[in-house]
Amino acid sequence: MRLTGKTRLAGIMGWPVAHSRSPALHNFWLDEQGIDGAYVPLPVRPDALRQALLALPALGFRGCNLTIPHKPRALSIVDRVEPVARRIGAVNTVIVAPDGTLEGRNTDVYGFIENLRDGAPDWQPTRGPAVVLGAGGAARAVVAALIEMGVDELRLVNRTRDRAERIAEELAAPQGAISILPWEARGAALADAGLLVNATSLGMTGEPELTIDLALLPEPAVVADLVYVPLETPLLAAARRRGHGCVDGLGMLLHQGRPGFEAWFGVPVSVTRELRAAVLTTLVAPR
Ligand code: NAP
Repeated sequence: MRLTGKTRLAGIMGWPVAHSRSPALHNFWLDEQGIDGAYVPLPVRPDALRQALLALPALGFRGCNLTIPHKPRALSIVDRVEPVARRIGAVNTVIVAPDGTLEGRNTDVYGFIENLRDGAPDWQPTRGPAVVLGAGGAARAVVAALIEMGVDELRLVNRTRDRAERIAEELAAPQGAISILPWEARGAALADAGLLVNATSLGMTGEPELTIDLALLPEPAVVADLVYVPLETPLLAAARRRGHGCVDGLGMLLHQGRPGFEAWFGVPVSVTRELRAAVLTTLVAPR
């Protein structure tokens, strides 16, 4: 990368932000496309978010991504919020418009859909009910994505029932019935399902393993895990042994970056084997 007087800028605001893989992702695309641009980590304290976002146009930034803890608060700071971001209650991508106003988007729904299409091209929303484990920010995006894709029955399973109930209330749509099941019923929830998605943090390196009995999951069902460290989670390994189609979480991370990159730098990009390899290196390298 060579910085010139015309370098186009974007970045990611978080607190902390050093763990983020987004710089590796976006700088890979900048190099690949030969764009005079840079994507930088921006450690922004929670109480400085407004100031930092409003400074983007003056600093010549095309926009930024947001990570923990900024995603919900940005909703009330940007000038316009895309409907899907409003529905989920989180902004992860900010675009500076030509007139200097800020648009807030959420690209996790897009990332989940594209990753599922890539990893399980034969899966159809009509295959059967979708079981989603978890009710955090990631699960919200998954539920919104599955409704958008046309799944007509969703079973939401979470340790803390209240959080699942809130998602069901806020995201319910006429075409997607959401039922809430207790955490203890996660194995039973798999009967006649067409898709299982782990949107909890269980199975991630440093977190407890996700224990779930897959015996009732029908053979054609697809299993997706949002956890991407490790890439092959114990859930995916168990599902693969039973012959299920499996979708890892890395692709979602990569695809969710595409709309922001395309808006900031004006060039369409794709998720290639080379990109996966480059970002994977950052997942195993000590930081
Ligand atoms: P979050 O808001 O903190 O939610 C964590 C979820 O995990 C909650 O549903 C929580 O249940 C559940 N959980 C945690 N420990 C548990 C335990 N011991 N037993 C049962 N349930 C437990 O996190 P998030 O932002 O939604 O992220 C969830 C995972 O998705 C993380 O691993 C994250 O890295 C991953 N993710 C991946 C992508 C991607 O692009 N691939 C994008 C976003 C997130 P309670 O509600 O009961 O606490």
